[in-house]
Amino acid sequence: MTDDLMARDRRTIADIERLRFFPATAVGGEGSYVIEEGGRRVLDFSASWGAACLGYGHPALAEAVSEAVRNMGAVSLASCAVGNAVGLAEDLLARLPDDRDRRVWFGHAGSDANDAVVRLLEAATPRRGILSFVGAYHGGSAASMSVSGHSSQAHAPARAGLTRLPYPDPYRPQFSPDLVAGALADLDRRLESELRPDEIAAVFIEPIQSDGGLIVPPAGFLKGLEERCRAHGILIVVDEVKVGMGRTGLFHAFEAEGLSPDIVVYGKGLGGGLPISAVVGPAELMNLQPAFAIMTAAGNPVCAAAGRAVLRTIEEEDLMAGANLKGEHLLSGLARLAQRHALIGHVRGRGLTCGVELVRDPVSKEPASSETAKVAFRAHQLGLIFYYVGMESNVLELTPPLTISEEEIDEGLAILDQALEDVATGRVSDEDIAAYAGW
Ligand SMILES: *Cc1c(COP(=O)(O)O)cnc(C)c1O
Repeated sequence: MTDDLMARDRRTIADIERLRFFPATAVGGEGSYVIEEGGRRVLDFSASWGAACLGYGHPALAEAVSEAVRNMGAVSLASCAVGNAVGLAEDLLARLPDDRDRRVWFGHAGSDANDAVVRLLEAATPRRGILSFVGAYHGGSAASMSVSGHSSQAHAPARAGLTRLPYPDPYRPQFSPDLVAGALADLDRRLESELRPDEIAAVFIEPIQSDGGLIVPPAGFLKGLEERCRAHGILIVVDEVKVGMGRTGLFHAFEAEGLSPDIVVYGKGLGGGLPISAVVGPAELMNLQPAFAIMTAAGNPVCAAAGRAVLRTIEEEDLMAGANLKGEHLLSGLARLAQRHALIGHVRGRGLTCGVELVRDPVSKEPASSETAKVAFRAHQLGLIFYYVGMESNVLELTPPLTISEEEIDEGLAILDQALEDVATGRVSDEDIAAYAGW
């Protein structure tokens, strides 16, 4: 059955299958489940990389979007004030933890949003330098790629003036004995020697580095980074595309350390699966040039209605508190699996944003890359979807819908348990995964 859609996919869609993780299809969805061709229901612990933050077919999203399509008056913010877009901008501005004068820019994806920020900085300041991080993923368009640092993008050139800092990783500490003190001392040293801080426009940071390996920074690092940026007039751009929108139990992941970023970038979950992104930044910067980065249908009423429905539902269903509780449930279940499966080197996360790092040996921490691909492949066979991330492709990334239930989390944990067991006992072959390069 699944061959039909897979075969048509191969004949029509530009080669992306190699980037996938297993032969998945989707013809529908319901709550936390994807419905595959043939009717099989597969529990989704990824929520389509976090985009489907309300799961699939949530009535609030369905109704808001249908209503917006039926009532569509004009699609372009470039030529008129679109009610839903202005409403969504108000909703987002109200979420920022300080009361600076800010404006909102709308795009279609995390990529174009980060792209717009890079170009804005280029136009607004004579400072040519940018800081970002090894392992960072800010998008797949030209300028967003040029400030990224992920191994999957080795083909894309870094922009001139980019410096990539190490993202402090508590499981694989780059500095000792104190990871935070070491990382900040390294930054201080760079600012005093090889870098010219007065020539650095901004730092791009993910408050949890997701594609780089679901790395939760150690407490104190983000705050220390912020202090250094403030001292040198370096703007702070926080990329909340994957981990924002309540997923960590806080609306913004950066709130965990009480940061006060200059620019915040939203995407993925903002549209609940529909394409919309946003940049919120200081008015003087965002108002720089009227035709700065226009796209005809950016801020269109349908995607903006989706964004408003997502924000409203997060509020009405208390999904941030839910992410905390359910995240603890998921993390404690993963910790139990870690005691039984030698492959699990480290479990980490915040709220419903969890990572499971697989290693061949707990002491050498050799990345278990092919085993990771097999675990994801096997879990899909058994009825659970998740993907993996990390510079060595050895970290399971779990970002389920915020609407997932504890029973569904238990169901997924049981499948993951079985998949780990099956991989450890050699039930998945190298040939099984040969067609899938993964991330
Ligand atoms: C996915 C992602 C992006 C890019 O978003 P797209 O919707 O794929 O363009 C940017 N930043 C982060 C942190 C992401 O996870």
